[in-house]
Amino acid sequence: AAKESGRGRWARYTPLLGEHSRRQLAIEQGLRNALERGELMLHWQAKLDLASARITGAEALMRWTHPTLGPISPGEFIPVAEQCGLIDAMGQWALREACRAGTQELAGLTVAVNVSPAQLLSGHFLDHLRETLAVSGLEPGRLELEITESLFMEDAEQALQLLRSIRQTGVHLALDDFGTGFSSLSYLRSFPFDTLKIDQSFVTELLSKDQSRAIVRMIAELAATLGMRTVTEGVETMEQMQAVRAAGCDEVQGYLISRPRPLAEFQRSFEAEAATKVAG
Ligand code: C2E
Ligand code: MG
Ligand code: MG
Ligand code: MG
Repeated sequence: AAKESGRGRWARYTPLLGEHSRRQLAIEQGLRNALERGELMLHWQAKLDLASARITGAEALMRWTHPTLGPISPGEFIPVAEQCGLIDAMGQWALREACRAGTQELAGLTVAVNVSPAQLLSGHFLDHLRETLAVSGLEPGRLELEITESLFMEDAEQALQLLRSIRQTGVHLALDDFGTGFSSLSYLRSFPFDTLKIDQSFVTELLSKDQSRAIVRMIAELAATLGMRTVTEGVETMEQMQAVRAAGCDEVQGYLISRPRPLAEFQRSFEAEAATKVAG
């Protein structure tokens, strides 16, 4: 966050900069042991299919509680893990745990896992994916990997080959945060995505800006033409859900449906909760 506050502020708040660096260092050091100490967890957030009004899937979101700093958001620790080369091991753990849950507590649902470019391009991702699927026994079609556009910035050709190989295992691919980044429509044509996740930023503008409504409608139409499903992220109100539905999106995710929750809690509540929220 300090990086975004601009040059003038850095100069004025030098003591805070020191504090910021100390925190960064603590996060970096803490992350090195987080996995083995069992400090990482997955929380699960529902995906609601609008046509059937049913929860059809769940996304795994990583959570970390530092022994002294307390809970740290993925927005803060994932970039650090990427920089320190720790994301690969952490991501492998998340994939294993998600596949395991997919055959047990979450049987019947599609499980989605976020994967960083550094993890995907590690060279052994595909082997690890196949092994994880085999060990867990999860049907590949019930796993979806969520990937952001930043993957294409590294090496688009290599990324394309990898995504095709992943797709050949039967695992599904979702393009996350679509509409942010440097979205190039040509990627949609050549990359084998099953799902487009429309970024939360469109939802917040959906009711106030005609342009955002037009863009979401266009994305939904384009996705349908290309044979992809659309999921809209960050739906917080009933009004937003209705606008998203009117724009032609297939699925929604957001606090309106369910916040990310620990596995046991998610499992207990998802059916009942979905039924009441949609009825309104
Ligand atoms: P994402 O994959 O786009 O996940 C959506 C984020 O929006 C999550 O934040 C979720 O908690 C939040 N969210 C969901 N519904 C709502 C809503 O209605 N309103 C608002 N305001 N927010 C909502 P979270 O859990 O903090 O994760 C942030 C990002 O960190 C994720 O964005 C993803 O890019 C990354 N991340 C999380 N877990 C993992 C992981 O296991 N591996 C990797 N590589 N990245 C992860
Ligand atoms: Mg995601
Ligand atoms: Mg997203
Ligand atoms: Mg995101």
